[in-house]
Amino acid sequence: MLTRREAAIRLDIPPEMAARNGIPARLTEAELAQIEEIPPAWLAQSRANRTGRKPVWVELTCIVCGYAEVARPKKWWPDFSFVACDHHDEDDLPLVRLGWVRGRYEGIGSRFVGILDEQVG
Ligand SMILES: [Zn+2]
Repeated sequence: MLTRREAAIRLDIPPEMAARNGIPARLTEAELAQIEEIPPAWLAQSRANRTGRKPVWVELTCIVCGYAEVARPKKWWPDFSFVACDHHDEDDLPLVRLGWVRGRYEGIGSRFVGILDEQVG
C-alpha cells in the first residue's frame, strides 16, 4: 500500500492537490498505476500547466552520510550548494573554498541544513 503522500510524489503533484482530487489516504500500486496510465482530467491539466516551473518535489541527500528524503521545496530556499543533516559537525562538511562565503539555512526538510557557498565579489 502507498500513502497519499507517496502517491503525490510519484505523480509529481502537491499532496493538497492529491487530497482535493480524491486520491485516497491509502492506495495500492495497481490503483496508482491506473491513475498514471489514464490520467484524470485534473492531473493531465496540472501536468500541461507545469512545464518549466519549479519542481514540486526535490530529493535532499546529505553530503556527509547519504541520508535522503523527498521534500516540498519552499519558496525561500536558494539553490543550495549542498545539504547535510543538521547533526553533523561543521568539520565533516566540505571546506569552503578560498574567497567564498558560506550561508547556512536551518530547517530544510525534516533534518537538514542547506549550505550555500558563494564567491565574494
Ligand atoms: Zn547526514
